[in-house]
Amino acid sequence: MYKTGELIERLSNEHSLSLEEYAFLIKERTPEAATELASLADKKRREVYGTDVYIRGLIEISNYCVNDCLYCGIRRSNKACDRYRLTPEEILLCCKEGYKLGFRTFVMQGGEDPYYTDDLLCELISEVKSQYPDCAVTLSLGERSRESYEMLFKAGADRYLLRHETYDKEHYEKLHPSSMSWDNRMKCLRELRQIGYQVGCGFMVESPFQSEKELAEDLKFIEEFKPDMCGIGPFISHKDTPFKDEPSGGCDLTCYLLSIIRLIYPNILLPSTTALGTIDPMGREKGLKAGANVVMPNLSPVGVRKKYELYDNKICTGEEASECIECLRGRINRAGYKMVTDRGDIKR
Ligand code: SF4
Repeated sequence: MYKTGELIERLSNEHSLSLEEYAFLIKERTPEAATELASLADKKRREVYGTDVYIRGLIEISNYCVNDCLYCGIRRSNKACDRYRLTPEEILLCCKEGYKLGFRTFVMQGGEDPYYTDDLLCELISEVKSQYPDCAVTLSLGERSRESYEMLFKAGADRYLLRHETYDKEHYEKLHPSSMSWDNRMKCLRELRQIGYQVGCGFMVESPFQSEKELAEDLKFIEEFKPDMCGIGPFISHKDTPFKDEPSGGCDLTCYLLSIIRLIYPNILLPSTTALGTIDPMGREKGLKAGANVVMPNLSPVGVRKKYELYDNKICTGEEASECIECLRGRINRAGYKMVTDRGDIKR
C-alpha cells in the first residue's frame, strides 16, 4: 500500500509516478494532501515564473462546428444554438482592443468550421502578426490536416491548443460520436509538435464515465508528452446535450490535479480556466494558488459571448473586455500574484 505523503514527496523531486501511484493519489485525496500539493506546486511555479500571471486574449471566432461531441453546447446537433461567425475585420478589431488593454497573446478559438479556410486564416494571421509583431498568435480550431497546420505555422501562428479530452481511448469513444477518432486527435498533437508549434493539450475533470484510472492516464500522458500548455477544467453539463443530466465536476479535484501537473512539469503553462470560475466563484483564484499561472479573459465582442456556450452558466459573458481585465487584475492581486503584459512563452 502506498503512503500519500511519500508519493507527494517523490512526485515533487522526481516529477514522475507510475499509473497506479497517480490513481492512488487521486483516489485517496484528502484536504491535507491537497494543501501539501498546492504548497509545493506554488513553490515550483514561483521558482520558474515568480508571481507573474500571463493573460491571453480569447477571441471566440465561430460557434459553428462540424463535430458532435456529446458534452459540447455548440455541437452540430444542437438546433437551439444561435450560430455566428466573426469576420476577419471583426477579429482584427478584437486584437486592436486587446493590444490597448495589454494583451500580447491572441487566442483564436472556434468550432471546426470549414468557413475558415487555410487561405483565409493565413491572411488573417499574417495581418495580426504584421500589425502586432510583439504578440503571439495561438490557434484553437480543432483537428485539421498536417498541411493546414504547416501553412498556418508558416503564416505566423505560434501556438496551438488541442485538448485531448481524455487519454483513455475507450473513454474518448464514450464522449464522442463514432465519426471522431482518438487516434487522429493524438496524431494531430504529435504533428503540431513536429511542425514547431508550442502545443497545448488538456482534459475535462469528472467527465461522464471517468474514474481515477482515466485521470491517471491523463497525468501519465502529460508526464511523457510534456505539452507546453495544459488546459484542464471541470466538466460542466450543457442543457441541450445528451449529457445534460450528468453531474458537473468540482473545483477541488480540478485544483488538486493542477497542483499535480505543476509538479510533473514545473515549467508548464497552466491556465486557471473560466470553467473553474464558473463552478466556484473563487475558482480562478483557487486555481492560481494551486499552481496555475495563466488566465484567458474574453476579448470576443459582447454581442456574441453568450452564443459561445460550451457549457451552462459560463461566466464573464456580459462585460466589456476592459471590465473583465480590471476584475481579473483585482482577483489576481488579491490571490497574491501579478498580471503582466508579456507574450508569456514557456520558460524552458
Ligand atoms: S468540443 Fe469542439 S469539436 Fe467538439 S463539438 Fe464542441 S466545438 Fe466542436
